[in-house]
Amino acid sequence: MSLSRRAFFGAARAEPAFRPPWALAEAAFQEACTRCGECLAVCPTGLLVKGGGGYPEAVFGAGQAPEGCTFCGECRRVCRPQALREVAGQAPWVLQAVFSAACLAERSVVCRTCGESCETRAIHFPPALGGVSRPRLDAAACTGCGACLADCPTQAIRIAAPNSPSLALRGAA
Ligand code: SF4
Ligand code: SF4
Ligand code: SF4
Repeated sequence: MSLSRRAFFGAARAEPAFRPPWALAEAAFQEACTRCGECLAVCPTGLLVKGGGGYPEAVFGAGQAPEGCTFCGECRRVCRPQALREVAGQAPWVLQAVFSAACLAERSVVCRTCGESCETRAIHFPPALGGVSRPRLDAAACTGCGACLADCPTQAIRIAAPNSPSLALRGAA
């Protein structure tokens, strides 16, 4: 999305931050992570930043990493103390997209941008009789990558960790 469009629809706002993908549970993560910053250095999308206490955080939001997380695995690969560790059968994280009332559909404006941004086709627009279709998330298909968030013209999408408070550092639902 262009800067001018984003400026038209509203100023940037802070988004909640989370640990990088494949992070251990919070206490174990803080014990293992040496705050070396190598995951930040290799992240091709710029999603990871140095956060509180020097620990890495994944920050979604306006102006931050438009591609979100591509799950390239580079952060995990360079993490020598294995604070980021793949566990068989477990997703990299439990983050998911959440839609707010700022969605254009709430103003009867047709928009499918987020659906087009989603590689896994996790966003659907069920027919709405006499109205405008609202985006609906297929939670099983959403990876929490954040690509839809970056493209939404009204910043109506945020990434949240509904079932795993240990992953959220601040402000998550
Ligand atoms: S998986 Fe890749 S894109 Fe995602 S946080 Fe790690 S290095 Fe960045
Ligand atoms: S991109 Fe944003 S405004 Fe458009 S349908 Fe999706 S949530 Fe609504
Ligand atoms: S977070 Fe990623 S997978 Fe989930 S709806 Fe948005 S683009 Fe699709």
